Amino acid sequence: MTQKWAPETVVVETARPPRELDAPLNPAVVLSSTFVGTHDLGTDGADAEGIQYGRFGNPTWTPFERALAELERAELPGLVFASGLAAVSAALELVAPGGTVIMPRHCYLGSFSAAKDSAAVGRFDVVTVDIADTDSVQEAVSAAAARHHGTDRGVMLWIESPTNPMLEVADLPALVAHAKGVGALTVVDNTFATPLVQQPLTVGADVVVHSVTKYLAGHSDVVLGAALTSDPALHEALHHHRSIRGAVAGPWEVWLALRGLRTLALRVERSQQNAKELAQRLSAHPGVEVRFPGLATDPGHDRAVAQLKGFGSILCVVLPTSAAAQRATEAVSLWTPATSLGGVESLIERRRRHAHEPHSVPEGLLRLSVGIENVDDLWNDLEYALGTALAAT
Ligand SMILES: *Cc1c(COP(=O)(O)O)cnc(C)c1O
Repeated sequence: MTQKWAPETVVVETARPPRELDAPLNPAVVLSSTFVGTHDLGTDGADAEGIQYGRFGNPTWTPFERALAELERAELPGLVFASGLAAVSAALELVAPGGTVIMPRHCYLGSFSAAKDSAAVGRFDVVTVDIADTDSVQEAVSAAAARHHGTDRGVMLWIESPTNPMLEVADLPALVAHAKGVGALTVVDNTFATPLVQQPLTVGADVVVHSVTKYLAGHSDVVLGAALTSDPALHEALHHHRSIRGAVAGPWEVWLALRGLRTLALRVERSQQNAKELAQRLSAHPGVEVRFPGLATDPGHDRAVAQLKGFGSILCVVLPTSAAAQRATEAVSLWTPATSLGGVESLIERRRRHAHEPHSVPEGLLRLSVGIENVDDLWNDLEYALGTALAAT
């Protein structure tokens, strides 16, 4: 798709109805489960048959799906799903039966659980890697490719970057190029970065998935997902999965997501600024360790500078103990102690409170999803909470 405008303009300008007298500026919400059809379903495929039924399509989806494709530079429209996990599940199903999925040892817990569930019933194998260790990832991909030699879609490399919650940064171009070279599929969960910060399809990734719930919708009022690809066969498989397994998006959710998308560039800009400022102040705070790719001392910093158009707005603070971290989440009053991320409001969460969080994630790690509030207000509240939490240690 040709890019006429910068992404900050695209999010505002795209997905509008045609400019005609009295046309609305915004697309309509179409509330219909069924659509007028023809007498004969025809022989030349689904397109000739129209939408037919609400599980196959909804006109409310179309503008948003086009907008996502523009932002991710996909050559085919995006596919909205009922949730990020529905999109993740559809993408995982692209692996051939008996194949191998290589996943970051730190990645979104739901994606990992979905993959483990499939592995438990023998659908495919799961191998975990340190996604920041390029050599070891490439070795794992080559080994799997050798095992599944000759099997189409036998190997899938699942990439998150930056990872949840450790914020490791993968060498995306190197991993994608290597995977392509040995015939492995690559899927990138681009939820944390957003297409404003990283566009994985432009470096050759096969599929991008999103939890639209997070930054794209941005107001913590919608659960929604999306998958994007420029490959017609993969697009067809994802589309088929959505239609037949039925994890379809509601029209209201998609409408709200498009409304939220209008301010994506502003929200991302402000929350990234806030995150960077807070990371800098935190790195001077005694008794805590900070993880944020925007800090020059962070292991992911050089890659982030080379590959990303920003450092994201998630940062992690590690306190000495789980009890101290827990106390910090109880002492905040502006920050909300809650899971999730990517909304306008700042959230704080001790990750290891989730039983399945990997034990390589420190007990005292707090994940901060930085919002768009005044940075001094955020800092004052956080500094007070950390002071309280550490004083009691
Ligand atoms: C939230 C999230 C998901 C899952 O999305 P839902 O919309 O909650 O189903 C997947 N990946 C990442 C990185 C996420 O943050």
